[in-house]
Amino acid sequence: MRRPKVYPLATHKRICRSEFTSCLSCGTRLRRYATLSERPIITLAGPIRLTHTGYRCPNPDCPTAQGSYRSAAADALALPGFTFGLDILVLVGHLRLAQHHTLDEAHQALQSCLAPFDQTISRREISYLFDAYTTLVRATHEVADDTAWQEQVRRNGGLIISIDGIQPDKGNETVYLVRDVLTGRVLAAENVRLSDTETIKRLLAPVVALELPVLGAVSDAQESLCQAIAALWPNIPHQLCQFHYLREASRPIYELDRGLRKQIRKEIQQPIRATRDQLERQAAARAESEPEEAEQLAVLSDYALAVQTALNLDGQQPFRYASLAVDDALSDVAASLNELEKRGAREAGAVR
Ligand SMILES: [Zn+2]
Repeated sequence: MRRPKVYPLATHKRICRSEFTSCLSCGTRLRRYATLSERPIITLAGPIRLTHTGYRCPNPDCPTAQGSYRSAAADALALPGFTFGLDILVLVGHLRLAQHHTLDEAHQALQSCLAPFDQTISRREISYLFDAYTTLVRATHEVADDTAWQEQVRRNGGLIISIDGIQPDKGNETVYLVRDVLTGRVLAAENVRLSDTETIKRLLAPVVALELPVLGAVSDAQESLCQAIAALWPNIPHQLCQFHYLREASRPIYELDRGLRKQIRKEIQQPIRATRDQLERQAAARAESEPEEAEQLAVLSDYALAVQTALNLDGQQPFRYASLAVDDALSDVAASLNELEKRGAREAGAVR
């Protein structure tokens, strides 16, 4: 007998390319030259399969033709070599330092954040992430002393600065990370309560103090960031990160959709769970005496499971909507049930 499709928890694919399309030294259109990394990353919004594509200036006479244009959005997801995202790392730092969680409490909190995605995290990983967080907030001192890295920046023609803010508990704290897009290096990381232009300028002061040329900047469209960058480096190009930009633009409709999905779940989840329990109990009770009927009950129970997993389908900003995914999946289940019913009727007719 054909079994219905059970939907696995979705892993979202994301392809990240350089936010700049032309070379900041000579203006030539950039060309894709390599896949810099292809890896899974676990974030607070679920697992992502990231493909990070590197771009390079194809003009052989360009002084920075060997430089690699990375994607600021890709580097903003996770530190190099980490499977757990920067949002998780920042949350661990926040729980330990601001909420005074013990390692075990932070571990428990993170486990429950990841449970809806069928992901787990070990206690050891939490301690590792906390170490990484404390190293991160010391980044400013480290880049100032790293002459080999500064030499590389000069060979690249300068820095391309990216700034993004992560809010660990959706409250008023924001951890801002300042990164060089060309080397991927974190230049500054700071936990701030205000995100006004003056605060951002103060956050960028150590980058100014490096006295390295700045070629450009990438950020979401947050106004205080734009103003701070314009004040510190008035003549550089400032590219808005399209992913963040679109995500902000689509937020209202995305929230509406989430509400709708929640409503669908609320109405169906309880009854379907009860039905499945009942089907499984009856199938078990008849396994010996009426094996054929037990088998049919098991198939119906699989249908109930398919509905349950369909209810867990998630959306992703900007444009993938959860309630549409749930509706598609439930329609598949309904079509399959219809088919089953028709075939049942045909077979019953043939027997008669
Ligand atoms: Zn060039």
